Amino acid sequence: MNLIILGAPGAGKGTLSDALVKELGIPKISTGDMLRQEVKDGSPLGLKAKEIMAKGELVSNEIINELLKNRIKKEDCKKGFMLDGFPRTINQAEELSKIMKELGYILDLVINLVVSENLVVKRLTNRRVCKKCGGNFNLFSSPSKKAGICDFCGGELYQRADDNETTIRNRLQVYAKDTQPLINFYANKGLLREIGAENGISEMIKAFNKIAAEQKNK
Ligand code: AMP
Repeated sequence: MNLIILGAPGAGKGTLSDALVKELGIPKISTGDMLRQEVKDGSPLGLKAKEIMAKGELVSNEIINELLKNRIKKEDCKKGFMLDGFPRTINQAEELSKIMKELGYILDLVINLVVSENLVVKRLTNRRVCKKCGGNFNLFSSPSKKAGICDFCGGELYQRADDNETTIRNRLQVYAKDTQPLINFYANKGLLREIGAENGISEMIKAFNKIAAEQKNK
């Protein structure tokens, strides 16, 4: 299955896609994770992206499209893949269609996670991420068993530089302007399905499985 997960920052794209990696056995491609790795490595791309990300703005389509193209061409994507945080603009969505066509891939489903702005701010300011494996936790809704330590790999948890209230508000504005139009873009193609993301991960997976089963029987 080739899948896109859309939704505002903090809607739960990372949490759902991490759970689905186990459920579906396909890789998750998170352009945010890829960029954070570049920043950590201090690569030329990372140096360019660092400030843009800290402000909550979007990295240029040229950079991100190239990054995605190189990743999606890898062998492991032949069995299917899940996109988290890409596309974020109509330009990226059009580029994705082009790349997938070239590779002979078909887009099966686009999931839009729906959540209120207040909950997003609460979620993101309380989010903690593992430095080692990228696992997601939340101080208020899903804390790690031991404070500051990842349940999955024992790595150290940290707060992302862009998870502060000022940047979060800007990311939400950028989302409304640049990414929201993708909802119509994919709805017009008959690929869009919504999942309410106010509830916990088990509810989201239940809703996803129902949609995936309907999709299969189409
Ligand atoms: P995320 O982890 O998906 O919330 O992404 C973190 C930040 O990385 C975003 O606020 C952007 O600055 C940048 N980023 C991630 N994915 C993209 C994308 N598809 N297009 C442009 N910028 C992106």
